Parts: sequence; C-alpha cells; structure tokens
Amino acid sequence: MNTQISFGGKAVSEKNDAIDVQNINTQLFIDGKFIAAKNGGTIDVLNPANGELITKIAAAEAEDVDLAVKAAQKAFPVWAETPAAERGRLLLKLADLIEENLEELAQLESLDTGHPIRDSRRLDVPRTAACFRYFGGMADKIEGSVIPVEQGFLNYVLREPIGVVGQIVPWNFPLMFTSWKLGPALAAGNVVVMKPSEITPLSTLKIAELIKQAGFPDGVVNIVPGYGQTAGQRLADHPDIGKISFTGSTQTGRNIVNASSGNLKRVQLELGGKGANIVFEDADIDAAVNGAAWAIFHNQGQACIAGSRLVLHEKIADQFLQKFIALAESIRLGNPLDADTEMGPLTSQAHRDKVLSYAKIAVEQGGKILTGGVAPDDESLKNGFYVLPTVVEAKATDRVAQEEVFGPFVTVLRFKDDAEALEIANSTEYGLGSGLWTNNLQRAHRFAKKIKAGMCWINSYKRVNPGSPFGGVGKSGYGREMGFEAIHDYTEVKSVWVNVDAQIPPHFQRGES
Ligand code: NDP
Repeated sequence: MNTQISFGGKAVSEKNDAIDVQNINTQLFIDGKFIAAKNGGTIDVLNPANGELITKIAAAEAEDVDLAVKAAQKAFPVWAETPAAERGRLLLKLADLIEENLEELAQLESLDTGHPIRDSRRLDVPRTAACFRYFGGMADKIEGSVIPVEQGFLNYVLREPIGVVGQIVPWNFPLMFTSWKLGPALAAGNVVVMKPSEITPLSTLKIAELIKQAGFPDGVVNIVPGYGQTAGQRLADHPDIGKISFTGSTQTGRNIVNASSGNLKRVQLELGGKGANIVFEDADIDAAVNGAAWAIFHNQGQACIAGSRLVLHEKIADQFLQKFIALAESIRLGNPLDADTEMGPLTSQAHRDKVLSYAKIAVEQGGKILTGGVAPDDESLKNGFYVLPTVVEAKATDRVAQEEVFGPFVTVLRFKDDAEALEIANSTEYGLGSGLWTNNLQRAHRFAKKIKAGMCWINSYKRVNPGSPFGGVGKSGYGREMGFEAIHDYTEVKSVWVNVDAQIPPHFQRGES
C-alpha cells in the first residue's frame, strides 16, 4: 500500500502511485548491494515543505568509505577494460531507465529538496537523462592524438582512466549533479565512490537502483551518503582515490584541497558564485525582466550560477524594477508537489535562517529592501522553510553584493556607463555565471570577453547543456564539468614514443679517447 505524501492533511501529488516513501532505498550502495552502515548510524531526512521526517538513511563513516573504495578498486580493471562502446551502452541504458522512472524521480527530488515538481519533471529529470546520454555517446569517442615529431619516431598520446574517483554532491541539484559527475567519469573508464549530501540523498540512491538494473558491474559505482566532516573528509584524504570532484562552498573546497594533498590527488572544484546580470539601457526590458527573475528565483535561488546581482543602467532602472518587483510578488509559493507551485521552500531550516539573516545585514549596511526579506505569513507554509522572493538595493561593496546568499535574494546595483558596469561585475572574488541584456552586438561581445566568469549568457540566463563546459574562475573553483573538458579532466595523459626507423648513433664513445 502506498504511503501518500500529504501537505496540510491533503494528498497533493497528481500521481500518488508513483512514489511510496516506505520503498525508498535508504542504505549505502557498495559493491552492487544495498547495505547498512558498519556502525549502524542513521541520519534523518526531512521534508523541507513541512519539516516532517521523510525517512532515515544509513550514515556512512570513514570505514564505510574505505569499504566502498576497496570495492571500486576491485572493479576498476574490469571496467577500464570493458570496450568503450559497451560502457557507453550501459550509460545509454541508464538514461532510458531514468526516463522510464521520470515521475518517481521527479517526486523524490521535489519531496527531498523542495524543487517545484513542474521543474523536476521538465528540467531536473530530463536533463539528468540527457547528460547520461551525452556521455554514453561519447564513451567510444575519447580519442588520443598523434604528434608530428622528429623523423623516425611515432609519438602518440593515450587518454587513460584515472582509477577510483571520489565525488561529493551538494543538496541544491542532487539528481542533476549526480549525472554531471558520474557521466564523464564512467564514460572515461573510471570507477566511482560518490557522497550525496546527507540532506538530499534520495534521488541519488534511486539512481543507484537504476544503475544496478541497467547492468553495470558491481563496484563500478558506490554511493555513500554521510556527513561532510566524516564521509566527505575521508573521500578527500583517501590515499587510493586519484581525483576528487566537489561542488559546494568555497570554504569546504579549500578544506578539500588541503585534505587531498597527502597523495596529491587531482581536484576539480565547482564552488560559489555571485552572478552579475547586467541590463543595459537598450535591452528588451520585458525579456530581461523575465530572464532576471528566472536567473534568481529558479530553485529558490539555490544555484551557484544564480543571477544574484542585478546590475541596472540608471536610465531604465526604475522602469525595470517596477516590472521586476511586480513579477517577484506574483510568484506562487506552495507545496513543491503541487503542479501549480512556482517556488518551493529552501532545502533546510539552517539554510533558510542564513538567507533571512542577509536581509538584516543588508539593512544594517544601509541597503533597502524593495520586497520580501521575510518568510511568508501564509498559514499553510508556516512549518516549511520558505522565504519570499526578495529584492534589495545596496552598494557594490556591501556584503549582500559580495557574498553568496544562495536564496531567492537579489541585490540591485545601478550603473551609469559601460566602464562602471564592468567594474561592478568584476568586483567580487567569484567568477562563475554572468548575464548581459543588450541589443548592441559589439557591446555584448566586448563584455563577454572582459567579464570575469566561466560562463556568460547574452540575452538569456542559466542555459546549460551537457556539451557545454560548466565551471568558474577565481574563488568559484577550477576544472570543468560537462563537454569534452570534463572527459579530459577524467583522464590521465600518456605520451608513447616508438622508434620506427630512426638510426641513433652511439651516445657515448665506450671509453675511447
Ligand atoms: P558545503 O560546501 O559545506 O557542503 C557541500 C557538500 O560538501 C556536502 O555534501 C557536505 O556534506 C560536504 N562537505 C562538508 N564538509 C566537508 C569536508 N570537510 N570534506 C568533504 N566534504 C565536505 O556547503 P553547505 O551545504 O554548508 O552550504 C554552504 C554554502 O555553500 C551555501 O550557502 C552556498 O553558498 C554554497 N554552496 C554552493 C553550492 C554550489 O552549487 N556551488 C552547493 C551547495 C552549497 P555535509 O552536508 O555533511 O556538510
């Protein structure tokens, strides 16, 4: 019998038969089996829409991570030697299974993270399948090269898998990020130990089930949800892990770099951001309002690429803000599992409190709250971790213009000319996403070149595609996810020299004087 998901006493999902919380996998996935943590520890997983317990999951600790690494090591030679086309076939099969399980995955993701179900259905799940499909297609196209060297020699370059890689996934887009990390690693022949955030592990554990169903060999993928300080830390300092891929905060990224130094493992970091979304005086205002709202309010602003600084030309700022605030105030907050909901709760109570604290910080530094800055007073939302869409006007040096808030919280800054717009855009430590709204082609390309960011969207925001490299500069991290860059980052390069017909004279004269 299904345990229905309810909200305020009412069943809310359109298709309640798709998910049964009692059937959710809650154990560690190691060597192809779901098992309890060695010390039997568990972690409560809460529903952010009402603070109630969804389920308890096994809590991996260092010894569980060690077990997972051993299973991965055992699987590595088999996986690395599996024909690349076969590795690709399994990834394509996984993509198909994800599509077949779209509704269950979408509901799990919404239940666990607070993503509105309309977004989980149309974005998170399809993008996850598309990412596995892209890397499935690429598995047998990871080519080396032949280098033109001196006469008589053949020099060719091989791209080989690294071995066991550790992957640490945060709580904001757990399902999608699982595919961004697993896809390229597996296609290139690596084996994986992945730690989802203990706050949002459910969709990743469902992916583990589908990985088994698809027929991946045991031990190729191991999933160990647990706390960062224990399971995460062990992945970062493990001597038999060759690479760590991490998405999360800049401070934890720094800790990971330190922990990884023991065996000099490779590190790829996708960290915070403070995306400048610049609207010039010649922009299509309605398109920019629509795009800027998506840039900050999608997923309640919990996105590293969020357009969290709205940089407006002074000539159009008032007109823009009037429309933008009206749109922000019209966004429908509600239960994530309700198909009409446009914004759900933040993913955890601690994070909601942090986001709200920034409204106070803004005011203390002389900023002005134009709308929001508080939790909604709607009775049906009172137990969830909600924050109203918030628009704040401040100075470029204020904390709300410099620090990542990671919520539905946008800081408005005004500029008078291009030079000032660029100065503001490049004034933070971060450099991840950025946006430009203009109809001036030359200005658009000029800015795209000069802006300090790993990604720049022109007359759009937040476009992602598995083929397009994703990552940042400065304190937003290094290395790239997706595209050829990601595949290359999951390979070791080996240069092979062959003497084909070179005549090499003696190097030494054998003692002759
Ligand atoms: P963290 O960077 O602390 O957490 C991200 C992941 O890393 C979690 O799975 C976490 O586990 C794990 N982790 C924590 N400490 C360690 C460690 N020492 N070694 C290995 N792994 C570790 O971010 P928070 O969740 O605390 O969020 C804080 C801020 O980080 C947010 O407000 C936001 O600004 C930013 N952030 C950015 C993200 C992005 O997409 N770039 C994603 C998430 C957060 P655990 O949950 O147990 O701590």
